[in-house]
Amino acid sequence: MSNFRNLFSMLAVFMVLACSPQDPAESPAGEGGAPNVADVAVAERADRDQAGQDDALFTAFAESWIEELLALEPEWAIYQGRYEWADQVTIPNVAGRAARHEFLRSSLDALAHFDPVRLTPPRRAEYRMLKNRMESMLWYQDRFRNWQWMPSVYNVAGPISVLLNTDFAPEDERLGLVSARLAAVPAFFEAARDNIDRPPLEHVELAMIRSRGALAVFDDDLLARVRASSLSADDIQRFEERLAAAQAAIEDWIDWLDTLEARLRAEGTARSFRIGETLFEEKFAFDVQADVSARELYERALQEQARLHEEMDEIAVDIWSRHFPDRPMPDEPLERIGELIDYLSDRHVAIEDFVPEIRRQIPALAEFVTERDLLDQDPDKPLIVRETPEYLRGAGNIASVSAPGPFNPGAETFYNVTPLETYGPEMAASYLREYNHWILQILNIHEAIPGHYTQLLHANRSPSLVKSLFGNGAMIEGWAVYAERMMLEEGWGDHEPELWLMYGKWALRVVTNAIIDYGVHVLDLEREEAIRLMREEAFQEASEATEKWRRATLSQVQLSTYFSGFAEIYDFRERRKAELGEAFKLRDFHNEFLSYGSAPVAVIVDLMEKHE
Ligand code: ZN
Repeated sequence: MSNFRNLFSMLAVFMVLACSPQDPAESPAGEGGAPNVADVAVAERADRDQAGQDDALFTAFAESWIEELLALEPEWAIYQGRYEWADQVTIPNVAGRAARHEFLRSSLDALAHFDPVRLTPPRRAEYRMLKNRMESMLWYQDRFRNWQWMPSVYNVAGPISVLLNTDFAPEDERLGLVSARLAAVPAFFEAARDNIDRPPLEHVELAMIRSRGALAVFDDDLLARVRASSLSADDIQRFEERLAAAQAAIEDWIDWLDTLEARLRAEGTARSFRIGETLFEEKFAFDVQADVSARELYERALQEQARLHEEMDEIAVDIWSRHFPDRPMPDEPLERIGELIDYLSDRHVAIEDFVPEIRRQIPALAEFVTERDLLDQDPDKPLIVRETPEYLRGAGNIASVSAPGPFNPGAETFYNVTPLETYGPEMAASYLREYNHWILQILNIHEAIPGHYTQLLHANRSPSLVKSLFGNGAMIEGWAVYAERMMLEEGWGDHEPELWLMYGKWALRVVTNAIIDYGVHVLDLEREEAIRLMREEAFQEASEATEKWRRATLSQVQLSTYFSGFAEIYDFRERRKAELGEAFKLRDFHNEFLSYGSAPVAVIVDLMEKHE
């Protein structure tokens, strides 16, 4: 395959460059005898120059590897904003997997030529991220083998939606790409059927739901859009034929899944959705890249749950009579906390003020961060609050930050907020209670300042393709969750006990997610007990708890990432505080931590500790 040859020839060039002699003028070789001060200075400069050269070689290698990967995985490229290969569909067959395996093995061999110790800290972080990415891709394909038991991974509509909704080229050109992708849909599902082997029933159901959703992308609106375009009559006709064949292929796939489900049920041969301890630990190591095991994180989560309950109960006892002067306080701590939370949730903005209130809070948060000197901000890049565009709306997707990808850095960063009116009166009322007066503030801290948006600003100061493409989810989410607690500790909301109580509920969700994730996959946690845990010990609504149970059966590790990132950052900060004593400055700590971009927390900790 030409791809591999390119990789090797490029690497050969790097190696030659790396071994080339230095400019004699900068050679550290002295006249013999003990080095004098000048020699040492020269030697240090030479080390620096050498590191600079290694860095340059590594960066060139990383960038060329990413180009190879983009070409190998056109779907991933589309999601990253690169469309050169958008007309090609990856058919999920044996030959494709063999080629991918070969590519990843040779990539790892090529990477092994670099000595991470010779790279400067930012590049060393990228080296570790790249290595993890290559190894984890191999692990997913060869060991986790989700292509075999997770039929929901077969999604043809996702990349097509991006092509239809992103304005990267003239309409006709984009429709041409969609047409080419549609042509491959029947072969795609034929390969998918060959792959599937005894999937868990839960995953079969998810795949059917997703595929029905996919059919909705290929609806009459799309036909109307193609007919209204300036494509030639032939092209339009071809598009229509391909679309009809693609629809039929998806419908066949759904029928096939339906039959498969009935057979697995009758025979009792479906595999369990629980992946078990070994695979869970391995997946945790690749996805999170933490210093701790999944088991250790689970135990840390249990500790945090107990600590939160205690803290919340102290508050509940303190403020009970303020809110319930005539009601006796229940003896059970969880009961009195629950009753207070339920009562306080009624304090929220009017439905029409939801988006305006968020807009109002953002500058106030920025001002607070500046006033307390918590970290650096960039006043030239204000965050734009907007209503979530239609195609990004989905159940439960109330607020999100959308940032420009690495391939279109000039684009704006938006804080998307979905107007609650779109949910119908009953759901809207429930969301308003959920995002009540206090939680709404925490949500804004998490999504915007100093959460996701601020983290992104810092990451963009030293742009790195590796970090933007392979950013660590646990670090990104962990930072936003850490920001919530840090802001409250620093006095946002004036240490109001009601705000801390609500924060406790919010934080318990993150903690409980980790407990349930590990519980479901490793400890055979049953549905009833999981729901009880969420309802009674984390004060969640019934709908939230049942939806979370479903998510826990369909995903692995992902629910743990928020807590793992938070715990790692928080514990690291406390350790630094203890070590540095008076010299510890929150602002310096935050700025330095964020300067490494979205690298895994464990890698950042490593780099910061070696820095001194
Ligand atoms: Zn988040």
